[in-house]
Amino acid sequence: KGNVYGIFGASGFGREVMPLVKKKSKDADYLVFIDDAPKASILNGYDVLTFDQFLSLHSMNKFVTIAIADAAIREKIANRLKEKQIEVFQVEASNVEIMDEVKVGEGAILSPFVTLTSNIHIGKYFQANIYSYVAHDCIIGDFVTFAPSVKCNGNVHVEDFAYIGTGAIIKQGTPDKPIVIGKGAVVGMGAIVTKSVKAGDVVFGNPAKSIKRGT
Ligand code: UDP
Repeated sequence: KGNVYGIFGASGFGREVMPLVKKKSKDADYLVFIDDAPKASILNGYDVLTFDQFLSLHSMNKFVTIAIADAAIREKIANRLKEKQIEVFQVEASNVEIMDEVKVGEGAILSPFVTLTSNIHIGKYFQANIYSYVAHDCIIGDFVTFAPSVKCNGNVHVEDFAYIGTGAIIKQGTPDKPIVIGKGAVVGMGAIVTKSVKAGDVVFGNPAKSIKRGT
């Protein structure tokens, strides 16, 4: 019985994740993209299957990772995988640095040069794009997305579904007063976040201000 590894999402991020899977998954007999709206049947030399086509591959052990930056889409696809009892796998580039007492939930993708330092708790389906870091004592929720080069300093709590844009810097909190990025909040590219961000808010700039509330 062979092993098939599926990368759900045949677009930008999926193409960046496929080479990591190829390098790491030595036991893979077949590597494929899965996409609900395939633009072509082959991408970078790999077959692109619909989910139904993937499900109908028989006598293979199936493993899937979700390489799509949009967290709501990730959650939907995660539920579909669960429904079909498909095993999810974590992707970790070979130069990712993970230090002491770090817990990472299922389905994470840790791109090249990601660093997770010590005493960190991360939920399900975290995506840390290239060069991002998470420092000591951070708590990261489920379906959180870090674009490239996010600098998340110590004692920061990032709640479920938050999106942190490229190059954003989040100031460190303290154990008794962590900086909290609220559920579903969006931190714009290059933002310098110096205080907590409310759930659902969108902040931008230096120091980061809400573009919804003006403060
Ligand atoms: N997609 C999908 N199922 C969905 C939503 C999106 O298969 O329910 C696919 C979509 O067809 C596209 C990819 O996911 O190929 C998302 O690509 P996009 O460029 O929007 O995101 P990125 O690769 O930057 O995360």
